[in-house]
Amino acid sequence: MEYGPAPEASGEVTAWLKARGQFGHFIDGAFTKPGKGFPTANPANGEVLAKVSQGTQKDVDAAVKAARAALPGWSKLAGHERAKWLYAIARHIQKRERFLAVLEVMDNGKPIREARDIDVPLVARHFYHHAGWAEMLEDEFPGAKPVGVCGQIIPWNFPLLMLAWKIAPALAAGNTVVLKPAEYTPLTALAFAEICAEIGLPKGVVNIVTGDGETGAALVASEVDKIAFTGSTEVGRAIRKATAGTGKKLTLELGGKSPFIVFADADIDAAVEGVVDAIWFNQGQVCCAGSRILVQENVAQTFQTRLKARLSKLRVGDPLDKSTDVGAIVDPVQLTRIRELVAKGEAEGAVLHQAEAQLPAKGCFFAPGFMTNVQPANIVSEVEIFGPVATLTTFRTPAEAVELANNSRYGLAASIWSENVNLTLDIAAKVKAGVVWVNSTNIFDAGAGFGGYRESGFGREGGREGMREYLSTPVVKTKPEADAP
Ligand code: NAD
Repeated sequence: MEYGPAPEASGEVTAWLKARGQFGHFIDGAFTKPGKGFPTANPANGEVLAKVSQGTQKDVDAAVKAARAALPGWSKLAGHERAKWLYAIARHIQKRERFLAVLEVMDNGKPIREARDIDVPLVARHFYHHAGWAEMLEDEFPGAKPVGVCGQIIPWNFPLLMLAWKIAPALAAGNTVVLKPAEYTPLTALAFAEICAEIGLPKGVVNIVTGDGETGAALVASEVDKIAFTGSTEVGRAIRKATAGTGKKLTLELGGKSPFIVFADADIDAAVEGVVDAIWFNQGQVCCAGSRILVQENVAQTFQTRLKARLSKLRVGDPLDKSTDVGAIVDPVQLTRIRELVAKGEAEGAVLHQAEAQLPAKGCFFAPGFMTNVQPANIVSEVEIFGPVATLTTFRTPAEAVELANNSRYGLAASIWSENVNLTLDIAAKVKAGVVWVNSTNIFDAGAGFGGYRESGFGREGGREGMREYLSTPVVKTKPEADAP
């Protein structure tokens, strides 16, 4: 375990922010003059980090025009030529990994250990992986063409990683992009834009327009060929309506309420540690968080006792401290939402078990925990809390576990804990989830398609399936010769 003060890159980040102060959009290879906008703050202390511009329809249209103009040149490059650019991006991410990790922490509130060891390495990995797809494109997808100009809208929970999930496959396939980061966390996307400029990526291939939901709606309404959206189910629904009948291709990565199923024969200590990664990782602001813990009745008491003991050891506080396990919630609005949902759960009879952590006086902090005495129809069982709080209920038989697991409008992920391989494979086949983890949780692999069923959305990101979402493959046939054998 590492303990210690904030990493040295925080001085570099502060200097970078001070030098810029206000940001315009990144359009056609350059930053525009900052326009009317809003501040983005550090959720751990409320300090304003910078001001970013609110993208208008005019800004979005200018970005789409630049992406359209760049499309023929970019899409005509051989796959291996595009791969060189993706490798260059990946290398520059690695070169600036400390800076990017600290910037992400300051804008988002996640613990530095996570940004440094998970987010940023996965971002680099995503670009390396997709450089490989670009290299192999003509062999792996013969006859495939890029979709065109892609509008991409991302949330705030993994700002740079979600950007990588969107931009890497789009560019590998020969598309050009206009990306809108979330309003709470635009800074690493702007730093990414600087990397694109620094390496000399052809102008217009990547455009970043900052702003809130109105800017997102303007992007959806613009002349793009595809919208790729990650965010809430509610906004996903609005985007689906807005794109219906327009001919725009659409992929949606939405919310979840994923089951975390612990059978009696599981390694209980491993499963308890799994909960830490499932729901307390990233303050529970994870679309595929294991937010519904289901434990087999005969081990439920042991499990709960050990879970409480583990909870009491979590260190909540300054995200820039390397010993912090649970950092700040991204914004006061989200903090209020979590508090209200948990209070509603308690009003319905749920019992909250919370870490008795000394929370910092300033900033958006919520002590992690879990809730017992919860019924399937209670609000905390149905609604995504998107905070560090899981529900804990029990089941008797595997069939009941499956029934409870599938009792959700979502279908993003599931985690199954048991030493019986046959049982885990059987349950994995019956649980309605886009990704199922066995004796593990929250494993993200650039080579595996990630996405949901039902109200968790459609489309996949990562690997071969993810590449297909950014390609169209026309079937070309000629009339057979009449006398052909
Ligand atoms: P959100 O839907 O409020 O916002 C997401 C993005 O959409 C932001 O950039 C926002 O500005 C933009 N937006 C808002 N209104 C819009 C509109 N009308 N038209 C177009 N764009 C609009 O979601 P959030 O609060 O930022 O993120 C949390 C949600 O995202 C959670 O529900 C979570 O489960 C989900 N999420 C899903 C995945 C996944 O891969 N399935 C990953 C991360 C987060």
